[in-house]
Amino acid sequence: MHNLPLNKPINLRPVIAFDVDLTVVDSLTPWVEWFQKETGLKANLNPSQGLHEAGFQMIDLCKANGIDLDVISWWKKPDIYDDLEPMPGVVDFINRCRKTGNDKIVFVSHCFPEHENGKREFVKRFFKPDGFVSTRDKWSVGYGVIFDDNPEVMRECIEHNKDHALHYLFAGLCPETQNRPHGAPVFYNWNQMSEHFFG
Ligand SMILES: [Mg+2]
Repeated sequence: MHNLPLNKPINLRPVIAFDVDLTVVDSLTPWVEWFQKETGLKANLNPSQGLHEAGFQMIDLCKANGIDLDVISWWKKPDIYDDLEPMPGVVDFINRCRKTGNDKIVFVSHCFPEHENGKREFVKRFFKPDGFVSTRDKWSVGYGVIFDDNPEVMRECIEHNKDHALHYLFAGLCPETQNRPHGAPVFYNWNQMSEHFFG
């Protein structure tokens, strides 16, 4: 793994970018819990393969049980971030990044319009970032380092930015995520990440 971004090994841009869902906050567990409550279905749901996989599993379960539920509607609630806490160790990691220089801490997230304000407030509450970019096209944000849990997002980012940015895949919440891209070290725990970068 590279040493981040402190010694700037490849002339990095001064933006350290963080994805939000499943990277700095567990918004998967409350989605699954909501689904189980709405449907009464508990068995056969294994969300450890990632967000999209969990969604497909829910849709399949609804179909198999004749349940009419828009599983995505949970993400359209304005208050889903109100009671959530950051992943263990990530606040400390970001604070340590901030202290090391002039780097800017920016969050980059694909938002539903209905939950965007709540997500922005969550991020502001815990991380006091320098910026928040609401986009699906994370590769287009001028970052020097990015942390994200989604292999497909990561693949796009690496494709566009591999020569001038560092990419890290966070798999702490979904350790069974498949099809990981080349060029992004995988990590499972923010405390370990912190130790790795800052010693
Ligand atoms: Mg994510």
